[in-house]
Amino acid sequence: MDLIFQELIHLFLSLLAGSAVYYFYGNRQVFIWALISGFFIDTDHWFDNWMAYGPNFDLAKFFAGDYFAINGTIFVPLHGWEYVIALALLGFGIKKYQPIFYALGLSLFLHLSFDVFSNNAPFEGYSVLHRIFMVLRAY
Ligand SMILES: [Zn+2]
Repeated sequence: MDLIFQELIHLFLSLLAGSAVYYFYGNRQVFIWALISGFFIDTDHWFDNWMAYGPNFDLAKFFAGDYFAINGTIFVPLHGWEYVIALALLGFGIKKYQPIFYALGLSLFLHLSFDVFSNNAPFEGYSVLHRIFMVLRAY
């Protein structure tokens, strides 16, 4: 799937998550939080790029996405179902910031769900603990 099209869907899903939380809480700030966890989260690909090429950043190499093959694994440290669970629990436990945690969690959930679908990836591939275990097992 085309990268630009994928990012437009992430943008749409983030605004959808923000709208859902806004509907219940009436707080417009939730759109910012939904965009952070649902759209700007893909900036964590920079970490994989850095692991492959070091500190010299090349936009063409970054968008080519070869860093996954070069690294032989996928890091994307902010992509994790565990964060969705943690954000849901934080929202449940800390009422004062509930709209923020729910916006972050719902938007991240939609982002990861679409990533699994669009990348034809296994569900566990988006588990931080699973990826850490796989890297440790390789050594
Ligand atoms: Zn992603």
